[in-house]
Amino acid sequence: MEKIQLLEECKEAENIVISGHIRPDGDCIGSCMAMYLYLQKALPQAKIKVCLEQPADIFGCIKDIDKIDSTFTVEGEIDVFIALDCEKSRLGSAEELFASAGKRINIDHHVSNERGCGDVNYVIPGISSTSELVYDLIEKRYMDEEIAKAIYIGIVHDTGIFKYSNTSPKTLRIAAELIEYGFDFPTIIDETFYEKTYTQNQLLGRALLESIMFMNGKCIVSVINKKTLDFYNAKTEDLEGIVNQLRIIKGVECAIFMYETGNLEYKVSLRSCKYVDVSKVAAYFGGGGHVRAAGCSMNGTFYDVINNISGQIELQMKEYKEKD
Ligand code: 5GP
Ligand code: MN
Repeated sequence: MEKIQLLEECKEAENIVISGHIRPDGDCIGSCMAMYLYLQKALPQAKIKVCLEQPADIFGCIKDIDKIDSTFTVEGEIDVFIALDCEKSRLGSAEELFASAGKRINIDHHVSNERGCGDVNYVIPGISSTSELVYDLIEKRYMDEEIAKAIYIGIVHDTGIFKYSNTSPKTLRIAAELIEYGFDFPTIIDETFYEKTYTQNQLLGRALLESIMFMNGKCIVSVINKKTLDFYNAKTEDLEGIVNQLRIIKGVECAIFMYETGNLEYKVSLRSCKYVDVSKVAAYFGGGGHVRAAGCSMNGTFYDVINNISGQIELQMKEYKEKD
């Protein structure tokens, strides 16, 4: 997909709204805020707003994060809507705003959104992060330390600090250019990625303790139910990272982490190491994501969900074995 001329696309807009997916993660927040800070500078005459669910406190170091509107109310006609890091169905409360906008721009890296859902699209699957794509589109004369920091946070989060297979030489070159702006990157990594609250560690501990291996140790699953979430007064962001810890258990190809969102309703996170395409598994159940990291929502008991998912994983494992 060809690069888009972002400023050209926005130059006549008076009212611009930027948004990303529900339960926003580091890449979603980083790319939205980098886009916001950039457009504020490049298009000073326009009214620009980020509409997003409340970001986790750890992202407090991003400039103007407190300007995010989580009420999703926009006055007047929206001339340009920029949907970042997702397709329109994952915009949540912003989906209506997207539908009403004069022009829709979609920038994303999810393979499950290959064609893009906007009038103007820049979707490159396989790229580390939407933040990397935003970096590509920014006119460098507007770049500054705060924009660089937001992009860096996005890249760091979606690459698991430059260690997932979506990290390319170009990703690292961009990261090198970003840290030249002088922000305190080791502290950012510690505070937004590694540091966990006591509650988060307790939940991680429980999830590991109660995890179940199956398919001869090639798969692992763990679940946290509503009762436990309520007991710890936990937010969903407190569960971030659990599935990654399950994935790196020796011998595991595919890790599944799920938490109960309602009666017989689960949010499922999938990760793989080498050959299972979890974006296909998630897409089969109405979700999506990337080849090595994907997710979906499912209904049924824990056993229903795990039976259904493992069926799809097993099909891929069989295919892989046959090819071998
Ligand atoms: P996570 O497991 O961390 O929630 O998500 C992993 C990846 O899959 C992320 O890139 C996320 O955007 C995507 N993803 C998670 N859940 C869904 C879903 O329900 N639908 C779609 N399309 N993508 C999802
Ligand atoms: Mn992303």
